[in-house]
Amino acid sequence: MNKLKQCPEFPFFGASYPDATCIDGYLWDLDKFEDGKLYGGGEVGCPFCNEKEFKEYYGYSDADEEEKEMIDKHTEALKQKYL
Ligand SMILES: [Zn+2]
Repeated sequence: MNKLKQCPEFPFFGASYPDATCIDGYLWDLDKFEDGKLYGGGEVGCPFCNEKEFKEYYGYSDADEEEKEMIDKHTEALKQKYL
């Protein structure tokens, strides 16, 4: 299996430092680590490689135009900052 380029870690789960890491397209909380593995996360899509699911976390498909624009901007800002 080819090792894909790792997505950047960034603050997501409420910390001011990068506390989220991407595993197979979903975000995991680096602060929830026990017995050699992460146990918190896996439900929010990664904004860098799984943008659609990331936006869905904010209710993108049910959002109105204004909300969609905000979600788009938020996602874009993360990509600008961390990619
Ligand atoms: Zn990713």
